[in-house]
This record gives sequence, structure tokens and C-alpha cells, in this order.
Amino acid sequence: MRVIRNLRGLRVWRRAVCSSRVVGLVPTMGALHDGHVSLFRRARTVCGLVVVCIFVNPLQFAPTEDLGRYPRMLQDDRRVCLASGVDLIFCPQAADLYPDSFQTSVAVNGLTQRWEGKVRPTHFLGVTTVLTKLFNLVCPRRAYFGQKDYQQYVVTKQLAEDLNLPVSIVRCPIIREADGLAMSSRNRYLEATDREVASTLYHALSAGARAIKGGEQSGKKIQHVMARICQQCPSLSVEYLAVCHPQTLEPLQRIDQGAVLLGAVRIGSVRLIDNILVAAGAP
Ligand code: AMP
Repeated sequence: MRVIRNLRGLRVWRRAVCSSRVVGLVPTMGALHDGHVSLFRRARTVCGLVVVCIFVNPLQFAPTEDLGRYPRMLQDDRRVCLASGVDLIFCPQAADLYPDSFQTSVAVNGLTQRWEGKVRPTHFLGVTTVLTKLFNLVCPRRAYFGQKDYQQYVVTKQLAEDLNLPVSIVRCPIIREADGLAMSSRNRYLEATDREVASTLYHALSAGARAIKGGEQSGKKIQHVMARICQQCPSLSVEYLAVCHPQTLEPLQRIDQGAVLLGAVRIGSVRLIDNILVAAGAP
């Protein structure tokens, strides 16, 4: 497994890759866990070369967010990648991707206005800009994303489609802890008492999904089902709980053909997001 830390090294590596080899890219911010590993393994099944990018992208953090304290543990991450059959770690410096002269951004407009985009208004601009750069640098045939960040996945699909990028965007299932909490690099911020209630979001979304499978079609009623469960937990504050169209992410009044249930909560200083896809129509 190789580790490349700068653009020049990556360009040299990319030029030497035979055009018939399928390159798979997994963009991450590091502090790798089993959720990330599931993406590496999925890429490994069909890609001749698996590239993992580890980059804490400053552009997708607002000044008030956790860029400074985001966990950085490249040595541990390196071991995880080695054990997962990764061929190359690309871990550039921020100054390499964003020199002082940098002045371009890539925006996906409609899909980024709601949910995560509303709570974190500059977030997706940072995500879509860095992904465009990574796609241009690595030239992957396939790129792997977790359903954990469902809106990010839908936005990335739109980005690739709108800009005719020659990359297939692959969605991979959410990997969870035993109590249902979606794995996340940020879970390590949770205090012990908060960790005990952190799976409440998943239980709320699951109750919503069960109600839909049981025949409930009203978006409002499903939202109430989810909200009631979160209300039982005083240390948890809800940012949004939504019943949405799986492709447009618009809120659904009536569920005819499946939905995605999206949620974001805060517990103490930690922000958690999660989602459940219910039935047909998922992209
Ligand atoms: P991050 O390092 O948090 O930016 O995540 C990198 C990629 O891993 C994103 O596509 C995430 O959606 C995905 N990911 C993060 N957590 C999980 C999880 N629990 N299950 C599956 N994929 C995940």
C-alpha cells in the first residue's frame, strides 16, 4: 500500500495507472471505523485499484464547527487501510488543495438548500468543491459513499450527473453499533451518559419506518411518531426529523412510493445525523 501526500506524487501515480484498470475512490476525513471499512471492502470487490482519500476538508466546516478538534490519526488509519486491502492512501495538505490563489467553488443548488444545508449553509459548497477536485485528480471510475450521509450522496450524484463526470456514484449501507447508533468519527466526542441515549435517533427513525411499513401514509403522522420518541429523551435536542422524497429530498405530505426518513439531533456538544430509506424509488 502506498501513501501519497501531495498533488505531484498523485499525478505521477495516476499517469502510470493502466487505462484498463478500474480505479475506485473512497473520500473520507479519516478517524476510520467499520463504516469506512465497509466502503473500502465494497470498492475492493469490483475495483482493480482502491484509493482512499483522507482529508479533513476545511472548506466544509463553518468557523463555529469542529475543524480544530476533528480527530486526526493517520498512523491508525494507515493500519486500517492496510488490513482492508486499500492500494493507495492520498492524504494531501490543505495548502496543497487550497493555495492562497484558490478562488473557485462548485455548487449544487436545489438539493443543498434543505436539511443539512439549512443548518450548515456553507457545508455542501465545501463538499462539492473538494469532491470535484478529487474526481479530477484521481479520475476514479467509481466512487463510494455511505448512506449515513444520505443528502451528501444525493448531492454528489447530482454533481456527477450535471457536470457529466465520468464516475459512478455508489451508495453503501449504514454500519451501526449494536444498539443501532450509526458509526461516526464524531461518536468519540460523546460523554458516557450521552452515549447511552445516542441511539434514540435511530429508534425514532425506525419507529417511523415501521409505521410506513404498517400502512401509514401521512408524512405528518410519521413525523409525530419520530418526534414523540425523541421528546422522551430530555438531553437530546432535535434539529430536524423529516419524511422526504428519496431523490428530491422534498418533504412528503403523503407517502406513495417510499421515503427517506432524515434526522439530525444534538446531544450536548455533539451533533448526530442518521436516516432510514423505506422501500421503492431510492436512487
Ligand atoms: P467521513 O469520514 O465522515 O467524511 O465519511 C466518509 C464516508 O464514509 C462518507 O461517504 C460517509 O457517508 C461514509 N460513512 C461514514 N459513517 C458510515 C457508516 N456508519 N456506515 C457507512 N458509511 C459511513
